[in-house]
Amino acid sequence: MKEGIHPNYQEATVKCHCGNEFKVGSTMKEIRVEVCSKCHPFYTGTQKAVAARGRIDKFNRKYGIGNTEQE
Ligand SMILES: [Zn+2]
Repeated sequence: MKEGIHPNYQEATVKCHCGNEFKVGSTMKEIRVEVCSKCHPFYTGTQKAVAARGRIDKFNRKYGIGNTEQE
């Protein structure tokens, strides 16, 4: 690791969980994100129900509501 130590600003490919990819300026070549402007409920407004359901599910699991999965 002697060459290319200095980070150069370039185009990075951002890969999102939803499958969307877009380019941004970054020192990294590839960036992985969980939400992007395409799938984020705030932007789309269409996945609100899905997001809410996931959150409730997580909440229920955390507090042992709805199942007895907790140790
Ligand atoms: Zn996305």
